[in-house]
Amino acid sequence: MKKVTLTNGVEVPILGFGTFQITDPQEAEESVINAIKAGYRHIDTAQSYLNEKAVGKGIKKAGIPREELFITTKIWISNTSYDGVMESFQRSLDRLNLEYIDLLLLHQPYNDTFGAWRAMEKLQEEGKVRAIGVSNFSVAKAVDLAQFNQISPAVNQIEINPYHQQTDTIEQLKIEGIIPEAWAPFAEGKNNLFQNPVLTDIGAKYNKSVAQVIIRWLIEQEVIVLAKTVKPERMAENLDVFDFALTEEDKEAIKTLDKKESQFFSHADPKMIKGLASRVMDV
Ligand code: NAP
Repeated sequence: MKKVTLTNGVEVPILGFGTFQITDPQEAEESVINAIKAGYRHIDTAQSYLNEKAVGKGIKKAGIPREELFITTKIWISNTSYDGVMESFQRSLDRLNLEYIDLLLLHQPYNDTFGAWRAMEKLQEEGKVRAIGVSNFSVAKAVDLAQFNQISPAVNQIEINPYHQQTDTIEQLKIEGIIPEAWAPFAEGKNNLFQNPVLTDIGAKYNKSVAQVIIRWLIEQEVIVLAKTVKPERMAENLDVFDFALTEEDKEAIKTLDKKESQFFSHADPKMIKGLASRVMDV
């Protein structure tokens, strides 16, 4: 598997397995076992996915040496403060039944992000996490955090898919040494993404599915991709993207699909911020 190197030298498999909305413990555990069996070595979870315990069980049962795996979890808003990180990180570690986390992210750009970041820096210094980053941050907010702290965010995990391509943001993040990670690469299938004729036509040329075309399009931009599926055949399909390449013409065609707006919600919408802020999700 191709890897991306973070500014502190830590290597990340470019294709990761997403676990959002796999809340049933049995299904979450089995999905992680199946994903690792299929060849994934990078697993993405979060306190708010309420599945860290099941993900941890899957990791243990898969029986792969810990150092071959790359595990990410994320601090929820209600824990976004110095003490909140210190306390809830230990709970995450216990639920995952791990000794360290490869990448710890601030899930959302709200609450006491500076206090939280200083706790995350301490965890990295102590070797409890190998790298720290952010998610859903604007470039400006990520740069602000970098300017007034010791460690700059290693990644920013944001929504990137053919309907919300974020081309300028990707470029700006790279200039700042912050690696972009794509969540919802398939926009969760919204707006018939899997049936989009531009993507099905490109796929037909290479005998590849729409999902494979999208993943290929992202990894060719050196964007780390987090794709979720509970189906073993789709896990294998989504990994089978390293034997073809998109042409300039393909990429130009994909450009035309950009709606330049989130397929979910804006992180700058006051209603959304209030709604998210009221949720305590850490069990
Ligand atoms: P996604 O990966 O864009 O889409 C998942 C959907 O696509 C599921 O309904 C899945 O169905 C379907 N699918 C997957 N592979 C397919 C294939 N080859 N053919 C047809 N359908 C396919 O959505 P996501 O789960 O929201 O995002 C991916 C990951 O990013 C998450 O799991 C999570 O780890 C992360 N994430 C992070 C944030 C954040 O705020 N940081 C937000 C959202 C997500 P089946 O499962 O039925 O196959």
